Amino acid sequence: MFSIDSYTLEPLVTGTFALDGGAMFGVVPKVLWNSKIASDELNRIPLSLRSLLIRGEGKIILIDVGIGDKWSPKLKEMYSIQPLYSPLENALLAKGIQPSQVTDVIVTHLHFDHVGGATKYDTNHKLMPTLPNAKVYVQKSNWKHAETPNEKDRASYLQENYLPLYDAGLVVFVEGNQEILPGIQVIETNGHTIGQQLVKIGEGKHSVLYCADMIPTSAHLPLAWVMGYDLYPLTTIEEKKKWLPKAAKEEWILFFEHDPFLHSCTIEWNDKGPLIKDVYALT
Ligand SMILES: [Zn+2]
Repeated sequence: MFSIDSYTLEPLVTGTFALDGGAMFGVVPKVLWNSKIASDELNRIPLSLRSLLIRGEGKIILIDVGIGDKWSPKLKEMYSIQPLYSPLENALLAKGIQPSQVTDVIVTHLHFDHVGGATKYDTNHKLMPTLPNAKVYVQKSNWKHAETPNEKDRASYLQENYLPLYDAGLVVFVEGNQEILPGIQVIETNGHTIGQQLVKIGEGKHSVLYCADMIPTSAHLPLAWVMGYDLYPLTTIEEKKKWLPKAAKEEWILFFEHDPFLHSCTIEWNDKGPLIKDVYALT
């Protein structure tokens, strides 16, 4: 657990899934990435679904909400999704939090593994928000992109995950870099998809950056280790070059949503790029 200003922060793991290792590492050869995260017999690597739970200022805030459980048995198997039922609610209840108590959700982007937990089926098989009282902050450009995704990323945008939030009046559109809650700002990035927002908590030394899919695991710290899923990989590299030297200088704690082994670290910056400095904790 970290404390920053008047907030306490802790990882909230809602489950695990698996994606093709080659797709996760783009042009990086398997002989290199497989030594960082070993693949299974189907070439998939295990990935965490790690939200960040922030409490303070009278609020209970989540950054991203995991993959949810609205999955067919076939897709659950394909993505090796665990656990199968109510992952977000159970993770919250284990921390003593009722889903209705969550006040704010910052969604980094509307890909299914980041926002899938935001909706669920009720007993009549009708879609409803999982967190009925939480405002949901999304970049407007990401919402627009999700309305008409292209052929490359269409499979990642599933309307069932976010349209019910809009219908319930919960969505708050954010445009560009902004402080959306006291001491919590979002940073727009456009390499992974249009309108992803990273989240920065606090200022200066030991502030936290929720890296989302700009750097999904610590293995993705090297500049060229960019996902094959990214719409604009060169833009992702530019974004890493923009933010990581600053993160090294100010000793930001980088928080990784999908890393199967560690949730956060600080980095140093040398001629070759970023290197892990202090590892914060194992999950
Ligand atoms: Zn994504």
